[in-house]
Amino acid sequence: MDLKAKLRHVMDFPKQGIDFIDITTVLQDAEAFKEVLDLMKERLGGLGEFDLIVGPESRGFVFGAPLAYVMGKGFIPIRKRGKLPYKTVKAEYELEYGTDMLEMHEDAVKPGQRVVIVDDLLATGGTTMSNIELIEMLGGKVAGIVYFIELGFLGGRDKLKGFNVHSIVEF
Ligand code: 5GP
Repeated sequence: MDLKAKLRHVMDFPKQGIDFIDITTVLQDAEAFKEVLDLMKERLGGLGEFDLIVGPESRGFVFGAPLAYVMGKGFIPIRKRGKLPYKTVKAEYELEYGTDMLEMHEDAVKPGQRVVIVDDLLATGGTTMSNIELIEMLGGKVAGIVYFIELGFLGGRDKLKGFNVHSIVEF
């Protein structure tokens, strides 16, 4: 299936000059959504043994949670500042102007656990770097990272050198 053709490009969202890749057109198409999940599952299967899937708010939940279900793993949400109810570890992430904070529960990952990160899209890699920081703060080991989409021209993969990075479609 031509998954690229199923994605909608929205020009000037969320601001002028941005070509935003809208994944909702894939999510609403049962066959396309299933194919993406099957392909992501295949990539996860090639990463070796792991214990947990971590997904960042909010599109990381959409792919991470069903993959955790089919692979029989626990799911750990990473959320924006102030959303998680229990004690958290925190890491800054870059916004275009300034920074904000991502959080994960402090008991979400146990020392030595192997963790994979699942998200919809790799752009600059800033979000994923913060995700890695949170996992490593708790003594977890990042066994790999799987995205649906990679914006290759932004060079996020270079920032993630040394990690096992996979994507299904690339622009
Ligand atoms: P990064 O931190 O790699 O620069 O940005 C990646 C994060 O921003 C991902 O969590 C992703 O959800 C979001 N993002 C950035 N650009 C796009 C886009 O064009 N489409 C979608 N669906 N998400 C994007």
